[in-house]
Amino acid sequence: MELFDQMGSMGHEKVLVCSNPEVGLKAIIAVHNTVLGPGLGGCRMWPYESFDEAMMDALRLSRGMTYKAAATGLNLGGAKAVIVGDSKKDKSEELLRAFGRAVESLGGLYITAEDVGTRMQDMEMILSETRWVTGVSEAHGGSGDPSPVTAYGVLQGLKAAVEWKFKSSELSGRKVAIQGLGNVGRYLAENLIREGAEVVGCDVDAEAIEKARQLGVKIVEPDEIIGVECDVFSPCALGASLNPNTIPKLNCAAVAGGANNQLADEDRDGKAITERGILYAPDYVINAGGLINVYNELNGYNRERALLMARHIFDNVHRIFELAEEQSIPTHQAANHLAETRIERMRNGLGVHQWSRFTGGRGLTIRS
Ligand code: NAD
Repeated sequence: MELFDQMGSMGHEKVLVCSNPEVGLKAIIAVHNTVLGPGLGGCRMWPYESFDEAMMDALRLSRGMTYKAAATGLNLGGAKAVIVGDSKKDKSEELLRAFGRAVESLGGLYITAEDVGTRMQDMEMILSETRWVTGVSEAHGGSGDPSPVTAYGVLQGLKAAVEWKFKSSELSGRKVAIQGLGNVGRYLAENLIREGAEVVGCDVDAEAIEKARQLGVKIVEPDEIIGVECDVFSPCALGASLNPNTIPKLNCAAVAGGANNQLADEDRDGKAITERGILYAPDYVINAGGLINVYNELNGYNRERALLMARHIFDNVHRIFELAEEQSIPTHQAANHLAETRIERMRNGLGVHQWSRFTGGRGLTIRS
């Protein structure tokens, strides 16, 4: 009964537990909410220590996808899959195809994508068994590397934060400190420098540092980046970079970056940032360019359209700042509120499974 209680309290619609001992498949597909559309979310492969740990990750991550799609204005619900195993040792064609058949069995309720432990080539094996897969190569009609679109979306959210704080979204003369100069961080730095901003950055990887240096990024040590005096601090590395140790050291007007799960504890740290007078652009809203990118595959991928949709992240982030101000709440709460309100309105107006006659409706909902 515990699982039913958990699903009930977190609001999940369906959980599929998949087992195929012949190929070593142990997977869970959690469909959180499909009011707005089919649940799209990555497939994570990780050596979970227990069934409960894998289940909790699937439940938590799928709910996160519901909020991300809803706040972004996409006609998508939230879902996620986890495969139990070591992606370096346990992955095989048979296993991925068996997983693909499990995805197919849901008839489009769940659309899979890459995540930690899976890559584009894996998605292409899954494609042999189901069309409900995104993140395949351009040769297969897919979108390829999502990072440029993610970074472009982060740039839009960052501009919205700059506009909110300084009454102009002009980046020329602004200083941005980027933590993590990998795919997203590097493309973001390139965009910022093109728009005239001064960029300071750090990484723990020598190759990433060198590539960024060549773009004109001023490099500092990883433990210095948090305290760099700047207009915007942009976390683009791993999660939990905003926590009780780092928040007091921030020396910026706003935080706007691409990393997932930036707040170590959403409520505690979101509140602490607000109390310091620092504007926080909620991570799952500002980094939605990756989701926008794969979503565009559903209708025949077009990079121009993906970038156009990512441009709306500016308006989304702006709307969240307005709502936070109107209601005197931290911005992460405003983002959650926006997502929940959109789902509730659609639930009342449409009914839960209207979208399954899904023929079009893959655009972007612009809120008035
Ligand atoms: P990446 O692995 O290419 O880049 C991350 C970089 O951070 C690496 O260069 C790594 O060396 C560096 N790093 C790790 N620990 C660090 C530390 N302590 N200090 C400084 N640098 C550190 O990954 P990515 O694709 O650029 O993704 C970055 C973040 O954005 C992740 O949190 C990811 O989940 C999120 N994200 C990415 C996308 C996308 O399209 N790639 C979409 C949405 C969200």
